[in-house]
Amino acid sequence: MTWTSPISSSNNDSSETGQGPRGSRPVSVAGSTDLIADPGLTKRLDSVRAGIADAARAAGRDDADITTIVVTKFHPAAVIRALSALGVRDVGESRHQEAQAKVAELAELDLNWHFIGQVQGKKARQVRAYANVIHSVDRVSLVDSLASPDTTVDCFIQINLTDDPARGGVNPADLSALVDRVQQSEGLRLLGLMAVAPLHAEPRRSFAYVRELSEGIRSAAPQATHLSMGMSQDYPAAILEGATHLRIGTAITGKRPEPVNLDREAQQHGGRHV
Ligand SMILES: *Cc1c(COP(=O)(O)O)cnc(C)c1O
Repeated sequence: MTWTSPISSSNNDSSETGQGPRGSRPVSVAGSTDLIADPGLTKRLDSVRAGIADAARAAGRDDADITTIVVTKFHPAAVIRALSALGVRDVGESRHQEAQAKVAELAELDLNWHFIGQVQGKKARQVRAYANVIHSVDRVSLVDSLASPDTTVDCFIQINLTDDPARGGVNPADLSALVDRVQQSEGLRLLGLMAVAPLHAEPRRSFAYVRELSEGIRSAAPQATHLSMGMSQDYPAAILEGATHLRIGTAITGKRPEPVNLDREAQQHGGRHV
């Protein structure tokens, strides 16, 4: 993995120009406290990086093929600034209003925004406007709302591995029809499949099943080879089963704050956070 830590290079002349390693981001300087990562954050990030490298080695995989998305839902924008200063490029959010506000506030940072929560049909176009990748495409009506003749957005189809429809994700029995719909729609590029391992099952078996589903759609969608799976508690198992996109929250950010109810929409989705 090629994480660049501006903290470790803070003695070089880049701090004088205010340019980060990529030339566009400010590095942490005294007085801008929200750019200085708390030591716990740095330590947890390092430890997850090491865990990913270990699991990749055990799986015989190159960890450069694995994108780590740091899930920052419910955390303030300052945490994302700190993560950015530590070299994080991919962040995940699950609530539209919160995500939209953070994207606007952090526009100057070089980040890829991954939307990983359920998308309401009437908010679909707004999510599409700021998300680089939408991980939660799970029904034909949403595909139709996201389609566009003008621009293309990357997406994953989310699989529901439980029998609770409220969890989001398409029932595996309906996957093939949904893949066809995405393939036929303008403005959506299908990267692959996404899933959350159910609580009371062995995660590796769940991830192996998603990998099999992914192989099953290969003829209909040859490009859809990616797998968004693996969270704080189960990412090593996901890496062993071929995950290309990990969505890791608490193992890096620490405990999530209580979600702030931004509006009625948040309340509708309240109490069911993964
Ligand atoms: C919150 C969330 C995560 C991250 O969960 P952690 O257990 O904190 O790593 C990953 N994926 C989805 C869909 C989530 O909602």
